[in-house]
Amino acid sequence: MTRLSAITPSGSVQLGNYLGAIRQWAAEGTDEDVYFISDLHAMTTSHNPSRLRALTREQLAVLVATGVDPRSVSVQSDLVRELGALTWVLECTCTYGEAARMIQFKEKSKGRSSVRLSLLTYPVLMAADILLQGAREVPVGDDQRQHVELARALARRFNGTYGEVFAMPKAVVPPTAARVRDLADPTRKMAKSAKDSAGTVFVLDSPDLVRRKVRRAVTDDLGVVRYAPEEQPGVANLLEVLAACARKAPEEVAESVKGYAELKEVTAEAVVEELRPVRERTRELLDDPAELDRVRRHGAERSRERSRHRLDAALRVSGLG
Ligand code: ATP
Ligand code: MG
Repeated sequence: MTRLSAITPSGSVQLGNYLGAIRQWAAEGTDEDVYFISDLHAMTTSHNPSRLRALTREQLAVLVATGVDPRSVSVQSDLVRELGALTWVLECTCTYGEAARMIQFKEKSKGRSSVRLSLLTYPVLMAADILLQGAREVPVGDDQRQHVELARALARRFNGTYGEVFAMPKAVVPPTAARVRDLADPTRKMAKSAKDSAGTVFVLDSPDLVRRKVRRAVTDDLGVVRYAPEEQPGVANLLEVLAACARKAPEEVAESVKGYAELKEVTAEAVVEELRPVRERTRELLDDPAELDRVRRHGAERSRERSRHRLDAALRVSGLG
């Protein structure tokens, strides 16, 4: 059962991406799955070309360094021609009303004087990502559920109008993983594109920087170490991170720690040790362009092979070629 997930090169990989997604892809993924760097999606808001290229490379390196099967890894834009073609056909299947209804579009465009058209149409590109590869399962959080629903609606409509071409995807709940919160503001989730990165631990941060960020994490003045996400979000976040690194439950790790100072020390060391091999391997990969280039080329070939017949059929039945 092909699963498909992506990470957008909108910033450096942060701890939440790693614990919540990439580490799972490495542990549970198979070479049938599709894990890709969605660089096309990163262009829906103002972007810097050389930074986009560098972040794409960095994210590819982190995936491989974490142990995601390199045969399942690819870069979205390596299929830009195929995706562009299918996106057009799907835009001709989608209505303006459907696109404009997307909550994420409303949120991301709110209050902006200039919005790229691609911000409106990007869920159709996401549908193309999913349908082109024949993905059956798309693990997504609540914010992306509506987009997978759109992909289903478009697949159903296209198949019904022109003939059975696309497999029906479905959104699945991602395997229970840590939802890492911002260390400086535990009411927000950690995000790589956050404006202020004081509370964001990046996978490539030096051990000292990781320690400093964890030591400065916001807690509370209750002074008790227990797992109570509602009343003590900061402490609960540290416990969740520690638990994810120790591969235990947050309640369990809470029992072994005395005060906040100790909690921060232990968590900082656990994060440093968890990230150390990934950081070191990522650096090696970034210093060895040939290996990353090879992974990238193979990933592109594989995705292209897997999807060629579907794209050809979609163009043919809709009256093209
Ligand atoms: P952005 O700020 O650009 O949205 P992001 O850090 O939210 O960046 P995404 O590219 O949106 O990252 O998501 C990549 C993957 O990482 C997704 O599977 C997403 O669910 C997961 N993820 C993102 N942030 C966290 C987090 N704080 N905790 C756990 N998982 C996360
Ligand atoms: Mg996000």
